[in-house]
Amino acid sequence: MSQTLRPFADAPRDRLARIRLIATDIDGTMTRKGKLNADVLTAIVQLADAGVEVLPVTGRPAGEALGLARYLPCVREAIAENGAVLVRPDQDVITLWNPPDRALLTRVAAEVAAPNSPLHLAEDAFCRVGDVAFLREGRGDAEIAALAERGRAHDVFVIWSSVHIHFSLQSPDKGAAVLSVSAERGVQPDQILTIGDAPNDVGLWIPGRFGLTVGTADVHSHAAALSHKPEWVCDAKGADAWLMMAQRVLQAVTSQTGAG
Ligand SMILES: [Mg+2]
Repeated sequence: MSQTLRPFADAPRDRLARIRLIATDIDGTMTRKGKLNADVLTAIVQLADAGVEVLPVTGRPAGEALGLARYLPCVREAIAENGAVLVRPDQDVITLWNPPDRALLTRVAAEVAAPNSPLHLAEDAFCRVGDVAFLREGRGDAEIAALAERGRAHDVFVIWSSVHIHFSLQSPDKGAAVLSVSAERGVQPDQILTIGDAPNDVGLWIPGRFGLTVGTADVHSHAAALSHKPEWVCDAKGADAWLMMAQRVLQAVTSQTGAG
């Protein structure tokens, strides 16, 4: 799909000022060398104080997302496994997809993998409830896209992040999950900013769904594998991009509050 990636620095201030929810990928988007650092945690608190909540939307498993929802400041819930489940501390896990047939997904994964390059189950498999994930182990986008094509012949969906390759029986769609959760909160789609870095974030970037859709600079390297691209792209990667986004939202929202 032909689509212009515009610099996030040019995103209109009035659209930024409407944002009340930031639906964000974690790995490669909020992280620096795989970790969440103090500057990011501080920004989450500053945003919350200004009336903007952060909603993690990750391909990581339900068990790990529950830890994010429990321990990140000012975060009350998280979407895990690319939209398969919603986790809230001290509540039963809320499944947004039908339960997966793990044996079938594992069998298909073994069939579609190249004979000399078998897929190895992600080490976090024990805390997944909605999909089956495998390690990327250095595979590039083109190689995984070929896997995905073979998966489609088995009615299986394959999507990938910066860390994992996910197999599921339902089309992964982080954005649909965000719309479901935000509607429950009474947040309008134009009050939502989404941000991600990799092919499993395409549901966050579908045009017309959200107020602003943002990518880190990594979207340039994944461009050929993206069915949808963000409207806006940062000129930095990972936490540096995320903090740039957070500060612009914060400035827009607080200046509006000050004017009101
Ligand atoms: Mg990511």
